[in-house]
Amino acid sequence: MSERIRRAVIVTGGSRGIGRATAVQLASEGYDIAFCGRTESAASEETAAMVEELGAACFHQPCDVADHQSVEAFVKGAEEALGPVYGLVNSAGIVRDSHLVMMAPADWATVIDTNLTGTFNFCRTVGFSMLKRKTGVIVNMSSVAGVYGHATQANYAASKGGVNSLSRTLAKELARHGIRVNAVAPGFIETDMTDGLGEKARKEALASVPLRRFGTAQEVADLASFLLSDKAGYITGQVFQVDGGIAL
Ligand code: NAP
Repeated sequence: MSERIRRAVIVTGGSRGIGRATAVQLASEGYDIAFCGRTESAASEETAAMVEELGAACFHQPCDVADHQSVEAFVKGAEEALGPVYGLVNSAGIVRDSHLVMMAPADWATVIDTNLTGTFNFCRTVGFSMLKRKTGVIVNMSSVAGVYGHATQANYAASKGGVNSLSRTLAKELARHGIRVNAVAPGFIETDMTDGLGEKARKEALASVPLRRFGTAQEVADLASFLLSDKAGYITGQVFQVDGGIAL
């Protein structure tokens, strides 16, 4: 890839977990990387160092994906630093689990604002710029919870179901302009997000996975990188599960 014009990709939630693995994988393939976490942290600095070590240009600053103005400022900064954005991976996400009848309205709102509205905010801002250039690829991190539902995760499952519908709709809107949009729906992946599972919940989760293990962030990043690549040039509007066979 070094012989052709470098492509810039924005990865939200790139400070940790699946977002970090995706940013580093893409940097290893020759993309330049703009990433954000909600906060600027030691983790963000670590991701930046990993990306730069691979020879990629890197732009990062904190950005609350739920805040439209913060998103516009981030995208402006990324384009000033790296040039037009070729790809967008929306990986920022949170959980606030509890049974629905006990769920605090604030926990409903913050999960929807981050996971669904955050994805909308980045798709809208970056999509506008992609439309002008008639090229680009978007990958949105969803979840198997958004496909099948998951007890104690009504807010999360609703947000990810929304991400799936948003992705399919945007794929329909943008296909004629040469822009592809897909979603990736992981099952249980080893990151900080699943670190918090208690022993009982982890055991139950493992029992539900035919491959009998949690996935790695790298295994999700590999699919995201394939979907961004020209090899996936005829694929749009799909939701791909990376879940160890959880649906079987
Ligand atoms: P993680 O390790 O907890 O990392 C979450 C990332 O999102 C961090 O970089 C965090 O930034 C960022 N973030 C959270 N709220 C944000 C906000 N308001 N604005 C900007 N950034 C924000 O999570 P993960 O496991 O990598 O998950 C990545 C994506 O995959 C999420 O969308 C998640 O729903 C999805 N997913 C994960 C699993 C799993 O088992 N891990 C399964 C299915 C789907 P800070 O560092 O600043 O907090």
